[in-house]
Amino acid sequence: MDITYDVLVVDGLPIAGRPTPDGHAPKWSPSSVTLISSGGKSVLVDGLLTAEDGRRMVEWIDGHDTELEAVYVTHGHGDHFFGLEPVLQRYPRARVIARPEVAAAIPGQISGPMFTEVWEPLFGDKLAGTFPSAEPCGDAYDLNGHTVEFVSAGHSDCPDTTFVHVPDLDLVVAGDIVYNNVTPYVVYTNAEKRRQWRACLDLVAERNPAHVVAGHTDPDSPHDPRHIELTRQFLLDVDDVLARGEQSLPNYEEMVRRHPDRINRGALWAGIATQTKTRDKAAQAS
Ligand SMILES: [Zn+2]
Repeated sequence: MDITYDVLVVDGLPIAGRPTPDGHAPKWSPSSVTLISSGGKSVLVDGLLTAEDGRRMVEWIDGHDTELEAVYVTHGHGDHFFGLEPVLQRYPRARVIARPEVAAAIPGQISGPMFTEVWEPLFGDKLAGTFPSAEPCGDAYDLNGHTVEFVSAGHSDCPDTTFVHVPDLDLVVAGDIVYNNVTPYVVYTNAEKRRQWRACLDLVAERNPAHVVAGHTDPDSPHDPRHIELTRQFLLDVDDVLARGEQSLPNYEEMVRRHPDRINRGALWAGIATQTKTRDKAAQAS
């Protein structure tokens, strides 16, 4: 076949913060980028987080003997494009592109409170010195005669997320809509947003892909489409566990019981503790 894809996964760094009730230190989740190549040209999907991630991407892309034409950013969260500086220095002709709603969200990650209160305290001098902006793009890209579709899907783990569909590869690169054996990040959700997230999963499932690459993935787990439904089940379990009316600790323990093997307990504890509070606030307001 004259179109191929390859995936690079990097492990998440430890981050500051208290351990979970069962003693797991906080860390970032492992993250992936996907290189789609045809005829000596390629598109990179997403761009990781740290300057070191950027150098690893350069080495990895160099190994593919390809001219990088574009980097597509799936959603406006810094951990999916902050690492691009070394890539854009090595491949200066590559354009950074994103759907218009994602391109509009990117500046808010690079400056303002998201940067000074979240990214800088967490990663500080591990971050690159410059960050890209993205040109708004249409919903399809022609890679050497193959269509690469960019699908705007809505709220998943943050507002305005998208995924990439490559029909000729039977491939979806799902950004943060699908998580592969990693804890889905529900801190920025509520019941309604988790419903919207499940609608994003419907859009991925409708493509009936044979391969699904999750933006946050267990490096040892194949890119299997069953993770669409496993992500849905996790989200339904969050709703189900919250509906029991218990507090954060028993809610967390129940989620651990239902999802014992998912990577990143810190993300589970942060998610369940915030969602228990969100549930209680919504109950007070109604
Ligand atoms: Zn992410």
